[in-house]
Amino acid sequence: MVFRHKKTPIERFESHVAVLDSGCWEWAGTRHAHGYGLFHNGYDESGRQRRTLAHRFSYEHHVGPIPAGFEIDHLCRNRPCVNPEHLEAVTPTENRRRQGPRKRRTHCLRGHELTAENTYTFPDGRRLCRTCHVVAVERYKASHVEEMRTYQREWKRRRAAARRAAAAALTSG
Ligand SMILES: [Zn+2]
Ligand SMILES: [Zn+2]
Repeated sequence: MVFRHKKTPIERFESHVAVLDSGCWEWAGTRHAHGYGLFHNGYDESGRQRRTLAHRFSYEHHVGPIPAGFEIDHLCRNRPCVNPEHLEAVTPTENRRRQGPRKRRTHCLRGHELTAENTYTFPDGRRLCRTCHVVAVERYKASHVEEMRTYQREWKRRRAAARRAAAAALTSG
């Protein structure tokens, strides 16, 4: 009979780690959308899977509790890294400062260059690709032909009615 002992959380954690030449401990398990490792650390009392960010788990296991409100900065700039020596607990403000100004994109998601003419900037700083916007409007129109026609007919009808009312007001006055 094979004896299978139930792995401890840290044993399961370590089974997902690959040590790189750079010294980084790269997370080989599931990744978070932003590139961080996701560690499935058993189940809570209600039977729901406990998912934690792998680098935060690593920090708390090897270094200690993360102070409330603190974020973990990757000193190696390698998001999937869980090496506690590459991690530091910092305030969100400090974390933003270290990340420096965000790199501005030069092209939209579909590859159109974001030149001054091709960019619409919202008051809050977000940018919109004009080429994509025009395409989106055209696509909307094409898929809503009947609605657009009805809307235009209705608009013309109202405008005509308003004119007639204005003319009637003039002649009666
Ligand atoms: Zn690292
Ligand atoms: Zn575009």
